[in-house]
Amino acid sequence: MNIVRCNHCNWIGSENKLITIVYGDNNDDTYLEEFCPSCQKGDALMDVVYGCNFTLRELGVLADILGSDGLVGNDKRLTERFLGWPVGTGLNEIISWFHRNLDRIEEEK
Ligand SMILES: [Zn+2]
Repeated sequence: MNIVRCNHCNWIGSENKLITIVYGDNNDDTYLEEFCPSCQKGDALMDVVYGCNFTLRELGVLADILGSDGLVGNDKRLTERFLGWPVGTGLNEIISWFHRNLDRIEEEK
């Protein structure tokens, strides 16, 4: 799944939480607009990946997403793309990334 941040209100979440309006009923000719579920604006949404900088609050949201939605399989590997990591990435690698970010935030205090 893609993770999206709204640069108007700092909402962050899974792309499937966005408000989506589809224009047209012909598959070849549909046009789709997406809006932030928090502020309803659509012009400041951006995909984020693990190379981005995240705040403590955002890391908490990301951890919640990682822990839900069947994103991690019984083999402790990603079942779908998450923050730019491909399917099959080990949970340990992602948890290490969380720890590195928490350390960085701690140092910046
Ligand atoms: Zn927003």
